[in-house]
Amino acid sequence: MMKKRIAILGSTGSIGTQTVDILDSVACEVVALTTNRNVKLLEAQARRLHPQLVAAFDEEAAKSLRIALADTNIEVCAGREGLIRAATLSTADLVVTAVVGMVGLLPTLEAIAAGKDIALANKETLVCAGELVMRAAKEHGVKILPIDSEHSAIFQCAQARGENRLAKIILTASGGPFFGKERAELSSVTREQALHHPNWNMGAKITIDSATMFNKGLELIEAMWLYELPPEEIEIVIHRESIVHSLIEFADGAVLAQLGVPDMRLPIQYALTYPARVPCKVPRLSLAEIGRLTFFAPDEEAFPALRIARLAAGERGNACAVMNGANEAAVDLFLHDRIRFLEIPERVERVLAEAPRYRELTLERVLESDALAREKVYSLR
Ligand code: MG
Repeated sequence: MMKKRIAILGSTGSIGTQTVDILDSVACEVVALTTNRNVKLLEAQARRLHPQLVAAFDEEAAKSLRIALADTNIEVCAGREGLIRAATLSTADLVVTAVVGMVGLLPTLEAIAAGKDIALANKETLVCAGELVMRAAKEHGVKILPIDSEHSAIFQCAQARGENRLAKIILTASGGPFFGKERAELSSVTREQALHHPNWNMGAKITIDSATMFNKGLELIEAMWLYELPPEEIEIVIHRESIVHSLIEFADGAVLAQLGVPDMRLPIQYALTYPARVPCKVPRLSLAEIGRLTFFAPDEEAFPALRIARLAAGERGNACAVMNGANEAAVDLFLHDRIRFLEIPERVERVLAEAPRYRELTLERVLESDALAREKVYSLR
């Protein structure tokens, strides 16, 4: 079998390091790696994997990286240009987009235009510009292979759909660290409590999103674009054990689910080996050991993020880009102890209510809506 040649954007983050971790199991050759500013880890990865090119988004970090790798023939790039170089390298077949946030949008669009298949872990890209990304993917005939565990589950189940359309998607949500808490109890939760996720080991931004349930809101929008379903046909159900990763329903009411231990290496591996399946180093699922799987309806009063995301999703246009930008800024403020937990959805909702709307979406309008939303969140009192 020909080795797939891959570029990993964000190789030093949570998804990036787990991607590197399973490379022994999959027939892939790494041609590019990028980081924001983790020079030490990127250097170690580069020495082990011998990519053709590496890049650091942070200019200072790129300088250090250039010095660190001076004894190799690896090309070192910097900034947004560096990220785009890595995403469009002529030798790459597939680009893993594992960067966090809006910064992933431009390199993803450039990679698609260059004909690369995308293993998508950067959900903000689809949330902000799903319409543009899916249209470009169709135009250039590239595959978007979801890495997000829920969307990978839907993708895996959907292999059995044949010519049938999906009647419904059921997205499972762990409920995060604050499941079962009422709104009043959430007013005093701390950053440390919010950063402690019961099932998944993830980066800080997505862990906070998981606590507010904006993560599930973003995933609803992601699913809407990936599977061309309106938001009202996407149901969210709390599943505390994170074993059932998501489900699809057909016209006759039959429901298919994908199950597995909560470990991101499984969906990452499937995105890299699709349509083939190869042994994975993740522990096997033992249902008898787990014993019981539980499901609950989400509490949209304590977690308004779900309602806000549904609203933005139904509007389309630039509403989702506004919501996403506002959320990224609000999470940043919360992580720096500048606002309280409940102020995250409050600020997002206020900014969303006031932001100018565009029905016709262009890349410029996405970027402008995002920037404006962030600015607004930071300036609110
Ligand atoms: Mg997920």
